[in-house]
Amino acid sequence: MEYVEFTSLRRSFELYKNEYEHALLGTARSGWYILGQELAEFESEFASYIGVKNCIGVNSGLDAIVLSVRALGIGRGDEVIVPSNTYIATVIGITENGAVPVFAEPDEYFGVDASGIEALITERTRAVMPVHLYGQVCSMGAITEVAGRYGIKIIEDCAQAHGASFGGLKAGAFGDAGCFSFYPTKPLGAFGDAGCVVTNDDSLAETIRMLRNYGSKKKYCHNICGVNSRMDELQAAVLRVGLEHLEDGNLRRRSIAHRYLKEIDNSLITLPKERKGAEHVYHIFAVLCEERDALQRHLLDSGIRTQIHYPIPPHLSECYSFLGYVRGDFPAAERLADELLSLPIYSAMPEQDVDRVIRAVNDFDGRPQ
Ligand SMILES: *Cc1c(COP(=O)(O)O)cnc(C)c1O
Repeated sequence: MEYVEFTSLRRSFELYKNEYEHALLGTARSGWYILGQELAEFESEFASYIGVKNCIGVNSGLDAIVLSVRALGIGRGDEVIVPSNTYIATVIGITENGAVPVFAEPDEYFGVDASGIEALITERTRAVMPVHLYGQVCSMGAITEVAGRYGIKIIEDCAQAHGASFGGLKAGAFGDAGCFSFYPTKPLGAFGDAGCVVTNDDSLAETIRMLRNYGSKKKYCHNICGVNSRMDELQAAVLRVGLEHLEDGNLRRRSIAHRYLKEIDNSLITLPKERKGAEHVYHIFAVLCEERDALQRHLLDSGIRTQIHYPIPPHLSECYSFLGYVRGDFPAAERLADELLSLPIYSAMPEQDVDRVIRAVNDFDGRPQ
């Protein structure tokens, strides 16, 4: 049986093969591989695409978060509010700095519920970290209002939301810092690991620029204890090609999602919702089903590969057992972990694969196979 793949990086590469090969070979032949022209150009192009003043390329999305938290002076004893239903990297970005994650439950759009944030603020709260999960911007009007009233920072996790917008403003342009991942499967993906921070704050940008390069502004002068988290020239060259086609990819995924929303019709399945005013980019198309495991089995038997984002919420992950949480502490996140299933969606997905997914999902009758 020919499978409907969950994603295909090979197909995505084939779409723009000549441009990618030209960029890669050009960089290889240039003889300049770290902190050069490609990175500088990408940073300026991505900042202008997002609509912010600065972009700093780093090694990964995780590093973007870790270094943003550190550059904002958040560390031991400080609290950061973070969604209970995010990918583990968001939380590691906090704990890696010795700060304490304080979990806030999601709303019906899978973003952090803005109305739950205020009750979690203490005198030790330094920041809130909205995650634009699956490619949809959180309720940023309400979050910005609360954060402003209490004088706490906003660090956006934009790792799944390249080009997503809310009220015309793009993810990454709302907060003090916006953190992006360019992991290969993300809406804008490198051919390896990469990430970046965007910010309108020039002094924050300068600190992150130093932190990523051993805390140095001038060669061999080390002002702060930094790390090595430089995005390399090959990845920057690849990302410049990808950025040219990001809008097309986002449009294609939106059109697949809109077919799913229109044509999937099964009372056992709850479809995702678009927030009013939000332009969702559908990095992930996640549906809810009480019989999730049976649905996944049924789809696999029909030749369709799916994934779960994410099966274990951070507060129940073994690495965070020291926080002392138990099942029942964050029931909304736990329910999502038990019931969510992500259907195939990627920009190079063939239309007949979309047809097959719709047919198979509509055929599901809830019985274990
Ligand atoms: C992918 C991802 C990250 C981490 O990015 P890496 O580049 O893999 O380090 C962080 N947060 C979210 C929500 C992600 O999806």
